[in-house]
Amino acid sequence: MRTVETPLLGTGLIVGLIVGLSSSLLVADPLGSQETEVAQEPEPIEAGLAPTTLPYSPGLDVLHYDFELALSQDEETFLGRARIRLALAEPLPEAIALDLTGLAVDAVRLDGRDVEFELSDGQLRIAQPPERRAGEFTLEVLYGGTPDDGLILRNNLHGRFAVFADNWPNRTRFWLPTVDHPSDKATVRFTIHAPEVWEVVANGSLAQEPFPTRRNALGETPGGADRMTWIWDTVVPISPYNMVVGAAEFVVDIVGTAACGRAPLASRSDGCIEVTYWVFEPDVQNASTKFARADEMVDFFSRTIGPFPFSKLANVQSATRFGGMENATAIFYSEQGVATNPDDGVVSHEIAHQWFGDAVTEARWSHLWLSEGFATYFGNLFFEQAVGVDDFRARMEEDRQIYIRSPVTGQPVVREEQRLFDLLNRNNYEKGGWVLHMLRGLLGDDVFFAGIQDYYIRYVHQIVLTEDFQTAMEEASGQDLDWFFSQWLLEPGYPILQIAQEWDEAASEVVLTVQQVQVGEWPTFRFQTEVEIELSGGTTRTSVEISDRTSVIRIGAAESPSAVHFDPDGWVLKETLDP
Ligand SMILES: [Zn+2]
Repeated sequence: MRTVETPLLGTGLIVGLIVGLSSSLLVADPLGSQETEVAQEPEPIEAGLAPTTLPYSPGLDVLHYDFELALSQDEETFLGRARIRLALAEPLPEAIALDLTGLAVDAVRLDGRDVEFELSDGQLRIAQPPERRAGEFTLEVLYGGTPDDGLILRNNLHGRFAVFADNWPNRTRFWLPTVDHPSDKATVRFTIHAPEVWEVVANGSLAQEPFPTRRNALGETPGGADRMTWIWDTVVPISPYNMVVGAAEFVVDIVGTAACGRAPLASRSDGCIEVTYWVFEPDVQNASTKFARADEMVDFFSRTIGPFPFSKLANVQSATRFGGMENATAIFYSEQGVATNPDDGVVSHEIAHQWFGDAVTEARWSHLWLSEGFATYFGNLFFEQAVGVDDFRARMEEDRQIYIRSPVTGQPVVREEQRLFDLLNRNNYEKGGWVLHMLRGLLGDDVFFAGIQDYYIRYVHQIVLTEDFQTAMEEASGQDLDWFFSQWLLEPGYPILQIAQEWDEAASEVVLTVQQVQVGEWPTFRFQTEVEIELSGGTTRTSVEISDRTSVIRIGAAESPSAVHFDPDGWVLKETLDP
């Protein structure tokens, strides 16, 4: 995701918890026909808290979610039914527990049998299932109410009511019963009953054309407005934070087709994926500019990284609190950004996430740079190809300045945070992007991109940790990269250099004294780069390696140079102090 569209403005996050009023609601029981009053909504837990222990939810693996939701055109409530295929493994968990908070639960059934359940501490727990054994089960949950977060039901910026999910990092539990952690991926089907004036977008592909909602469907109100039913399906597993629905009066337009022949899951018969935008009517003009290159971006990433991992790509104007949120196959952008900001930097970043973050996903939040650092760097790489190397270097320089001025330089990139929103920092984004840039500089383009492609193919639709990426790059390069990954990701800071330059007339050598003057708590950095010397007959370049607090470099030259440039192409994340 991008926290805001203009990175220099700061993160601008709204982290407050919106506590909704508890209310009871009427539900037309789809299995019977009588209306029943469901339970009170419990108080929600605080959003965004890190799990206290890992691995998350051991012994329970969700295989498939089948969600059915009934939405209305003007109410901040919804009705839901979840059918969850799950597998229990030895050692069996104490209880079958799913994350769900702040909503009322009417009934829970395990393999069709009503079971006792408990709602507490943000979880729906079945402490005593009818049988305790390993194997597969289907859990059905009838629930609903006014979500306190996660599903945003409110007027859009044009005063029209609309519904959007906004899950990152673990706010899915505010509207969907899930194992709400990125490490448990599952396929998902959304069946959405929505007012007929709305279009509904979700993950994956449409299972069939939308059809008039059947009379006995969830949430039907006799004599109420006509509704349409939309069914969206994924064929590959995704993490719960990626599972979204958007329902509004949209204008839907095709930007183009992309990744032709490089999209094995494409829903189109020609093997291309369809790249679309879904926006509010007054904002079509700005959106058509903002998303104009979205298909080119998909093409670029599918050539550079690997095949497009999903079936389609929708770019959606939404109620997300972020500048953009990379939900698999349905990227949600801030409604203001789509309405007013034509810049497509955020689009490139979010599309890169389809490969990194969505298809190859960090197994732990503390390894978020595997998502955000990659999206930051590959988002910039699109512009290197599409605009030119100067544009790319300007973006990297902006990222460098944002990082070195940030308050997190004293912390390593890979780090546990109690509050997951604190992970949306300049380490995981800009420094993470720079780590990839430095790795590319170290290994060269051929080895770097071959390693990226190997890593992607090996882990697509799976979960990873930093060591998995390190291993893939070590295998691609034949080098031990432990020093590189340790110093840049597990230790804080960056090199702060003081460089003195002299001309040794007797030896006919340029003498550079490079001192690393960063604080002692930061490591002494090891890095390789070049020194460029300008002479009357042209320029020369010499490769150098720095690994000590003070390094003296002597470079032979026919004359005293007119200028000397250390790291002339900007491959090293550093700050150089004025002499
Ligand atoms: Zn991102």
